[in-house]
Amino acid sequence: MMQVPTLKLPSGEAVPVLGQGTWMMAEDARRRADEIASLQLGLDLGLTLIDTAEMYADGASETLVGEAIAGRRDEVFLVSKVLPSNAGRTAAIRACERSLARLRTDRIDLYLLHWRGNVPLSETLEAFEALVRGGKIRHWGVSNFDPADMAELEGLPGGAAVATNQVLYNLSRRGIEYDLLPACRARGVPLMAYSPIEQGRILRQPVLAKVAARHGATPAQVALAWVLRQEGVIAIPKAGRPAHLRENHDALRLRLTPEDCAEIDRAFPPPTRPRPLEML
Ligand code: NDP
Repeated sequence: MMQVPTLKLPSGEAVPVLGQGTWMMAEDARRRADEIASLQLGLDLGLTLIDTAEMYADGASETLVGEAIAGRRDEVFLVSKVLPSNAGRTAAIRACERSLARLRTDRIDLYLLHWRGNVPLSETLEAFEALVRGGKIRHWGVSNFDPADMAELEGLPGGAAVATNQVLYNLSRRGIEYDLLPACRARGVPLMAYSPIEQGRILRQPVLAKVAARHGATPAQVALAWVLRQEGVIAIPKAGRPAHLRENHDALRLRLTPEDCAEIDRAFPPPTRPRPLEML
């Protein structure tokens, strides 16, 4: 079996560069068996980082993940997220406890603030630190933070412990290459790329078909290999069916050439000035 490449979190802990998303899972009972089989196949293949959130399917995605990882908790690097409306000093602790119950585990490996809301960051940080002390989470991070948000966070006492920033990144959403990605890389904070295949919308782009044909690969594999060409980036595609999961895993074998990347750049040019952070 192929060894999945890893990168190091600021703590020094290694995590796989390719993980599994779960947004939109647990929304259709007819798809449930496939979704669980897909997550479990992912674990078998070493895609042991699973990303979920209290928001997804109103908690039902976490419940589904709990079912998929039952008996295999120690294999998994579990990521979940707290809603900004639950990010207060005590509310975040309660929200985390509800997530733990749905996930049927005693700890979340990485707990993220889903996006910035009205609660002062310092309060959320206090809650995260209390959760770490209590052993309920092992690391904390953020999502959808732009460079100014990151600078503000890192300026707060304890803020430099941020383990990741999870943001939208794929070849049709390259804004972060201009500023956020280099800033995070300089600080050793990995980015987690969400919607790495733009929820399927970019798969019909002719450039992907062209590059894929040269490698005997698929457009999704090219899109994923393209995200993963960057150092310090983790991709978390969501696959609700085992065939997609396997295909995405096999993207790890694909190495894009400089010619492939140049061709992709012509179709999807890199940013030449700052752009507001995009989100879904
Ligand atoms: P993705 O870019 O991962 O696309 C998922 C869609 O692509 C699904 O419809 C899936 O279908 C399909 N798909 C997956 N693999 C293939 C393949 N090989 N060929 C063709 N189609 C494929 O979008 P997501 O928005 O789901 O992003 C990934 C994860 O990132 C989320 O699930 C979530 O965990 C996280 N996320 C975080 C956000 C945040 O604000 N922090 C926002 C958005 C996402 P099928 O299910 O049928 O396999």
